[in-house]
Amino acid sequence: MWRPWASGLVDAVYPPACLLCGAPAWDDPLGPLCPACARRLPAPVARCRRCARPAPAAGGGPGCARCSGPLALRDALGLGGPRAALAGVVAGADYAGAARELVLVLKFAGRRGAARVLAEGLAEALRAAGTPGDLLVPVPLSARRQRERGFNQARLLAERLAVRLGLPLAPPRALQKRRHTPRQSALSPGRRRRAARGGWRADPARVAGRCVLLVDDVLTSGATARACARALRRAGAAAVVAAVACRAAYGRPAPHPAAGRV
Ligand SMILES: [Zn+2]
Ligand SMILES: [Zn+2]
Repeated sequence: MWRPWASGLVDAVYPPACLLCGAPAWDDPLGPLCPACARRLPAPVARCRRCARPAPAAGGGPGCARCSGPLALRDALGLGGPRAALAGVVAGADYAGAARELVLVLKFAGRRGAARVLAEGLAEALRAAGTPGDLLVPVPLSARRQRERGFNQARLLAERLAVRLGLPLAPPRALQKRRHTPRQSALSPGRRRRAARGGWRADPARVAGRCVLLVDDVLTSGATARACARALRRAGAAAVVAAVACRAAYGRPAPHPAAGRV
C-alpha cells in the first residue's frame, strides 16, 4: 500500500520530465507528457487497410484508390492483395509531428515511456480497424544492433500491445534476424530492398497456423515488413498484418538522418 503513496509523493516533489520537451509532467498511462505535448498527439484517422495511408472511411472497399486501381500500387509495393505475404498494414499515426518525436526519443534517447504512448495509438487503430490477430511478433533487431541499443523498440511496443489487447507475445526466437545489415536510412531504396531480403528466419513451432500481427515502430518502404512476412508465411503462419506505430510517407526520405529501421 505504501508504494503508490510514496511514488505519488516523489512525483509531487520531483515531477517526471515530459518525454518530448522536458517540462514537468505528471506520470499517467499516457506519459510522462506535459499537457502541451499531450495535446500535440495525433488524433486517429481512417486508413487504407492495405497500405495504411490516410483514406476516407466512406467507399466500403478495403483499399485506398491507389491500392484498388488496375495497376495498383500495392502490387509494386507487395502490400496487401491475395498473393502478397503481407495481408495489410495498420498504423497508429503518420511519421510526423509528436509521433515522430516519440519514435526518436524512444530509439535514440532510450526514453522507453515513449513506447507506451505509441502503443496506445496503435492499439486504438487495431481496435478501430477490427484487425484479426492471435499472436504479436515484434520485428527483431540483429544481435549486434540489440547489443548497441540495449533494447528492441519493436518488442517494447509489442509488450505494451499484449497488455492492451490481451494477445500473446511471441518469444524472441519466433522470428530472428540472422545477419547484421547497415542502417536502412543510409541506403538507397534499391539497396534497402536488397538488404531487407533474406536474413530472416521464423520458427514453425511458434507461428504455424497463427494470424500474426507483425509489430514495428516505423514502416517506410515496407521492405522489412514484407521480408519478415515471407519468413513467417514460409514457417506456416496463416496470415501476417503489419502493425506499426508510425507510417512514413512513401517516397519521401526519412527526415532524421538516423530515423530509419535499424
Ligand atoms: Zn512536453
Ligand atoms: Zn492503400
